[in-house]
Amino acid sequence: MPYIGRFAPSPTGPLHAGSLVAALASWLDARAHGGQWLVRIEDVDTPRCIPGADPLILQQLATCGLIPDAPVMWQSQRSDAYQTALDTLIAKDWAYPCGCSRKEIEDAQALMGRTRERHIAAVYLGTCRHGLNGKTARAWRLNVQRVIEDLKLATPLAWHDRLLGPQEQDVAKDVGDFVLRRADGLWAYQLAVVVDDAAQGTTHIVRGADLTDNTARQIVLQHALDLPTPSYMHTPLVLGENGEKLSKQNGATVLDVSQPLLALQNAAHALGLPKFSDGASIEQALTECAKAWKEISSPVPR
Ligand code: GLU
Repeated sequence: MPYIGRFAPSPTGPLHAGSLVAALASWLDARAHGGQWLVRIEDVDTPRCIPGADPLILQQLATCGLIPDAPVMWQSQRSDAYQTALDTLIAKDWAYPCGCSRKEIEDAQALMGRTRERHIAAVYLGTCRHGLNGKTARAWRLNVQRVIEDLKLATPLAWHDRLLGPQEQDVAKDVGDFVLRRADGLWAYQLAVVVDDAAQGTTHIVRGADLTDNTARQIVLQHALDLPTPSYMHTPLVLGENGEKLSKQNGATVLDVSQPLLALQNAAHALGLPKFSDGASIEQALTECAKAWKEISSPVPR
């Protein structure tokens, strides 16, 4: 069975310890299953990208022996593919323009007695689903309920995570009509990731557990665009001393690759893998890790 995995960093800064764990997990899973490992730079959210972060990330990976098996893909060069996908959804009447401002969305929620939770995107209540009512089109949204009904998808949508087990989400109720193209004209992560995973032929996604909650939305979009659904595995996050997820946004320190074996050993430890043998080279350490990963990771279902 062919296996294509990928690591898809956003160049909002160099890799930190947590991102190396995600990179290593996806690399190990690909190697352990004799597959290919690809890298995609997710630079659609240009205001958050830092110039020069992408070559730095690729260099940090290479220093740790993590070399992609095919040319790197940059999302900033993929606008035509995203536009084609959006056009397909519009033609099916599954996407509609939305003129709501963030404030209007929050006000509509407040009217329904819903409060906005920290870190959770506001559920969109579908205000513009039946027309703009004189408002100017700003963003494009997916009509989730219509896709679910037209394609007879189950509600809640159930999916399997190789590590976390059975998962489910009622996308229409818990997320609502999510954004495909943002009000500022930028492509939304959900659309870009689904189009590109398919374009790269990704069969297995291994990524950090902070992305678990996005998976059901991505599966709905895969159905809507008639694209295959890969297998999913979400790996535990590395938490900082304050107990919060390490992220470039909350100031996680840049991964120090001046001692790549130490960086790799820490990442392997976070994944529950044993210590490398004394004096191992990077290549040997990675081979040992891939062997250990194969033993502990569950068989890959398709
Ligand atoms: N670009 C996303 C991030 O850095 C990861 C996307 C994914 O793996 O699906 O958080």
